[in-house]
Amino acid sequence: MVVGAGAFGGWTALHLIEQGFDVTLVDAYGPGSARATSGDETRGLRYAYGRRDVYTRLAVDARKRWMERQEDWGVTIALPAGRLSMAPEVTASMQDAQAIFDRRGLPYEYLDAAEIRYRWPQFGPDGLAMAMYEPDALALRANLACRVVADTVTRQGGRVIIGKVQAPASTGPISSVMLGNGETLNADVFVFACGAWLPRLFPELLGDRIRVVRRDVLLFGPPAGDARFSYPNLPNWTESGQRTYGFPDVFGAGFKVAPSGGNETFNPDTDERFPSGESIARARAYLALRFPDMAKQPLVHYRVCQLENTADEHFLIDRHPEMENVWIAGGGSGHAFKHGPALGNYIARRVNGEDPDAELTRLWHLNV
Ligand SMILES: Cc1cc2nc3c(=O)[nH]c(=O)nc-3n(C[C@H](O)[C@H](O)[C@H](O)COP(=O)(O)OP(=O)(O)OC[C@H]3O[C@@H](n4cnc5c(N)ncnc54)[C@H](O)[C@@H]3O)c2cc1C
Repeated sequence: MVVGAGAFGGWTALHLIEQGFDVTLVDAYGPGSARATSGDETRGLRYAYGRRDVYTRLAVDARKRWMERQEDWGVTIALPAGRLSMAPEVTASMQDAQAIFDRRGLPYEYLDAAEIRYRWPQFGPDGLAMAMYEPDALALRANLACRVVADTVTRQGGRVIIGKVQAPASTGPISSVMLGNGETLNADVFVFACGAWLPRLFPELLGDRIRVVRRDVLLFGPPAGDARFSYPNLPNWTESGQRTYGFPDVFGAGFKVAPSGGNETFNPDTDERFPSGESIARARAYLALRFPDMAKQPLVHYRVCQLENTADEHFLIDRHPEMENVWIAGGGSGHAFKHGPALGNYIARRVNGEDPDAELTRLWHLNV
């Protein structure tokens, strides 16, 4: 049984089915819901991870899997948008990524301000100096992907149900979990891929390891009849100096501007999801700076989302130290969505008794 149908859980369920397991996928709100961290319109896939080569390696694997799955499904989910990482000058993180890209033969370009403006005249030029461009970066249609993965689980004979699983409590293996409505579900193995809810379900184990913080995401409507701000006419972009990143309008969802930073804690069940005035003001200031023709456009949609951060931003994937047939998978730390197809493969094989990647196993260990 897999609890949680987000990036970790959905893909794990799918890979378990493909390995011959009988799978039930349970989610409290349904796959890709507005409360799930994976439930936003878009998430990005990039290879650049500074010096953390292990995640570049994982992203390369994941990209291949996204493209293959998309072809099998016949649904457009992974859009080859490319990504611009803008800065006043080449940063240490870009140099680290560049060394890894060179070693792995991954494509990138450095663009100066004139070249950026030539390719994408929609960008406002003030202080724009250079960017590292990743042509292989993707815009992933996140909540759609969660639903398609869950539908594929069903099509392959699995069961997908809506239900809130109660926290298990035992000092040995468990044989069942209880839902909020009193129903009992039996299984041989349980994977808890519950995102921001993990520290609530396992407070002793994860209460200090995963911190849940709020993020606002604003979607602005491009002018009527103007495709300059929509995929494929603009890449994903990020500008660390401005603590802002975003995505082009993808199939009418809105032009996404996401201010980053902040440590406000968040309750994923009960907190209201209205964006703050400060976030909207920051997004509008950024639009005025970089996308002046969007500066006065209306906010048409928004998402208030949560990060489930570990201290070192590495994921946590391991067997529960006391309940030996219970697995924990989460701690996405703002970067797990892209890796979903590769994570599902890794987790399902771990559950099946293999150790497919010793480096990842060491990195994501619960260390208790
Ligand atoms: C603003 C923002 C931007 C991001 N940008 C990127 C990006 O560009 N690229 C990238 O790769 N990553 C990005 N991330 C991170 C990525 O979205 C997350 O790491 C990933 O989606 C986490 O997936 P998850 O499966 O752990 O959690 P979730 O998607 O939240 O899934 C957990 C599921 O568990 C269910 N659940 C919880 N408790 C229970 C229970 N008791 N019973 C049943 N079901 C339960 C929930 O309903 C939920 O559906 C971003 C995150 C945020 C917040």
